[in-house]
Amino acid sequence: MSNSTKYVFVTGGVTSSLGKGIISASLAKLLQARGYTTTIQKLDPYINIDPGTLNPYEHGECFVTDDGAETDLDLGHYERFLNTRTSQANNVTTGRIYQSVIDKERRGEFLGKTVQVIPHITNEIKERIQLLGKDGKYDIVITEIGGTVGDIESLPYVEAVRQMKWEFDEDCLVVHLTLVPYLAAAGELKTKPTQHSVKQLLELGVQPDILCCRTEHELELNLRRKIAKFCNVSMNAVIESRDAETIYDVPLLMQAEELDRVVLEKLNLNTKSTPDLEQWKEFLTTLKNPDSEVTIGLVGKYVELKDSYKSISESFIHSGVANKTKVKVKWIHSESVTAENVAEKMEGLDGILVAPGFGSRGISGKIETVRHAREQKVPFLGICLGMQCAVIEFARNVLGWAEAHTTEIVDNCKTPVISMMEEQKSISNLGGTMRLGAYKCHLTPGTKVSKAYNTDKISERHRHRYEFNNEFLDVFEENGMRATGKNPDTNLVEVVEIEDHPWFVGAQFHPEYKSTVDNPHPLFVAFVKAILDNRK
Ligand code: GLN
Repeated sequence: MSNSTKYVFVTGGVTSSLGKGIISASLAKLLQARGYTTTIQKLDPYINIDPGTLNPYEHGECFVTDDGAETDLDLGHYERFLNTRTSQANNVTTGRIYQSVIDKERRGEFLGKTVQVIPHITNEIKERIQLLGKDGKYDIVITEIGGTVGDIESLPYVEAVRQMKWEFDEDCLVVHLTLVPYLAAAGELKTKPTQHSVKQLLELGVQPDILCCRTEHELELNLRRKIAKFCNVSMNAVIESRDAETIYDVPLLMQAEELDRVVLEKLNLNTKSTPDLEQWKEFLTTLKNPDSEVTIGLVGKYVELKDSYKSISESFIHSGVANKTKVKVKWIHSESVTAENVAEKMEGLDGILVAPGFGSRGISGKIETVRHAREQKVPFLGICLGMQCAVIEFARNVLGWAEAHTTEIVDNCKTPVISMMEEQKSISNLGGTMRLGAYKCHLTPGTKVSKAYNTDKISERHRHRYEFNNEFLDVFEENGMRATGKNPDTNLVEVVEIEDHPWFVGAQFHPEYKSTVDNPHPLFVAFVKAILDNRK
């Protein structure tokens, strides 16, 4: 069977956290840089319909796409590397697969058959994989299978891969990521875990075509030969994947190992092109040779797990490079900040970011942080809950409304400066019901944000239930906090600014989701620039 779209599957063995997402994104980058249209999909073997209801401590940040899908944070890497958009179709969980199959069963679509993992669940998985290849939009679809080979929950995915390899033959290939650990006592790299992991795949009927070997040391020829021989792959398909200084080095490391060429050859695609990575290399050069350094405090309640703020910290890297500056992030736990210690906690910071979040834990620390940034005139960016805290702080300490709060925390609050959006009030389910995805926003000309974007009409992604309460807007504006960005259809406040301040911006939307290497986000770029200007 011939198929115009080619499918690359990326599986993982030995252990989790080997960096399948970064390898997938790097391979996609190399193929894209050779002119192949490429997208990446992540299949997650957990039963949640999507990660929207997951605590960030579980899997890190929940990434949001334009079409309002709440997705795995790897989709953020895909967008940051490829500078193209992903959508709901790029992230599928076991929960979603089963939900869809069960819905079909209820509609009688299986015509009285017994519904089973094979073929019904595996068919659904294969459909979801091919959905992205359907309209010929992509030459290559890379599908990353979450979890580790051998896990019970990933079995149906591996079976779907086996079937697709059998059906589409040379239009499919499997890249297996494994670990080649260094045993200090033996003074050697060990290939046995890789052999075992490939054996496990073979038991499931899948012969990997390429092995990416994560290692801390050089994979010498004899080791490559050994791995090739015992895992039935060609020598040039044993790819060394050394620990890198930054994730943005990985595409170049993979290029040096010729991963892209091996993939193209095995897929019978033309290898004549050379990847155009000039802009990428320039980015890396600036990243590693900054002219200056700034320190930004990131105040949030999940700072123990930095993946919870992945898109924000990557946005700082992109916007730092755009300003030829290294942005050092100081992670500050919002629960640890009090009125008494805030000055000490914020000491030495050139800028402050108050992070998004939900619920009451740590919120008073966030509000104290805003107060410090406002009064001490430290450049400030508040995102989503961070923006809402900026509004609450202004109401309490400038307008003198001591009881001002958000109804998220105090339901019957007397001065609800942040309150639940009207359309949210009748919703009781938590999953997928927030205001999600891209919405238009109009900016007031001449303001800090409109200067940052260099345009007055923008679209940004959202993930929230509560909003600025427009009942109070006039008083805020008369006293120096202006709504400088609004949704043109609903009048919802999207951005607030304080005029009498070097740079104080709160955004109801999440700019961090749209920052990429090729397109650093304008709001982050302007924030870092304001910090540099402020220091002069
Ligand atoms: N909890 C707030 C809301 O739902 C903010 C959400 C966020 O920061 N993403 O409106």
